[in-house]
Amino acid sequence: MKTYKVAVIKGDGIGSEIVDEAIKVLDAVSINSEFELKYEEVLMGGCAYDVHGDPLPKETIEVCLNSDAILFGAIGGEKWDNLPRDKRPESGLLRLRSTLELFANFRPVKVFDELVDASSLKTSIVKGVDLLVVRELTGGIYFGQPREKEETRAYNTMVYTKDEIVRIAKMAFEAAELRGKKVCSVDKANVLEVSQLWRETVEEVAKDYPDVSLSHMYVDNAAMQLVRDPKQFDVILTGNIFGDILSDEASQISGSIGLLPSSSVGGKVGLYEPIHGSAPDIAGQGIANPIATISSASMMLRFAFGEVKAADKIDSAIVEFLKEGYRTKDLASFGASEVCSTQEAGSIIADKVSKL
Ligand code: NAD
Repeated sequence: MKTYKVAVIKGDGIGSEIVDEAIKVLDAVSINSEFELKYEEVLMGGCAYDVHGDPLPKETIEVCLNSDAILFGAIGGEKWDNLPRDKRPESGLLRLRSTLELFANFRPVKVFDELVDASSLKTSIVKGVDLLVVRELTGGIYFGQPREKEETRAYNTMVYTKDEIVRIAKMAFEAAELRGKKVCSVDKANVLEVSQLWRETVEEVAKDYPDVSLSHMYVDNAAMQLVRDPKQFDVILTGNIFGDILSDEASQISGSIGLLPSSSVGGKVGLYEPIHGSAPDIAGQGIANPIATISSASMMLRFAFGEVKAADKIDSAIVEFLKEGYRTKDLASFGASEVCSTQEAGSIIADKVSKL
């Protein structure tokens, strides 16, 4: 029997509701398998600030570093918005990503056939969309120095080193080799020097992957193309801020931000989390969609532990759940035969998993 250690960070807002459901499903899948999961819950985000005066306590980093993977909910909320920047939950998350060297963020965007109507785009445009955003996560403007907010002036710095671009580009090409063999690198090379280096470097890396075709797109065009014809994309490779924005845009193709999982890797321990935030507007109401987090748990089994069969079971159970017309409130207007709570959704998916 293999044992995997999972650090669990529920975070703020809907974090605990959605992570509890992911754990329910993980427990259901591990019960009939040859592995067991050992969870250790740690605080991060606003809840950690409230207890320790720090959104990322030392103990949290230690537990994460001693784990095989991290399952993450979401952090943040109005309560902590006026704290100094380094005390805010979001800066704790940026610090966690950089401390763990999680430079590569994978955000798959798949449209479930059962939910084509839920997209704000026409069925013919979204049916069959299957793309992957590979976002650089520990560099770019979110981390660049100098940065400052003065009385009447503020600035940030967008900086990438060649090494940072090479390592994320390799990840994107390797992912493309296993998929549709196309990489579209998104930048703003017509205006930004940092993007010119990005483009030249990606061209160089591409030479090592002759079976993968490379194209380039300016980020403004990419934002437009994503809603015009998302099926043209296989792997989108981009920097931190562009990837942040484009992947939220891409989430709407699928119908709800509550559906999309992600993994952040590259360092010692991978982190698996939904792409959405802590949704304070719906926290505590039992209406959050847990599918993004349950899918993130599936990605954890597949990519961190190589437990492909177990991950396949979770993915199939999610499809069955949707096929049978179960919907959480965010998707209630789209083919629902039954609207269920966050907790009911988790239980139904867990039940299906245990029967597969
Ligand atoms: P958000 O993603 O939390 O919410 C945007 C909208 O989507 C809201 O209307 C929300 O109700 C809805 N939504 C999000 N997740 C949902 C789910 N699972 N099911 C149903 N509906 C869902 O973004 P926001 O409102 O801009 O940010 C709220 C807080 O989250 C902020 O403090 C922000 O900094 C933080 N945040 C955290 C992360 C993270 O933890 N990785 C990411 C983004 C934002």
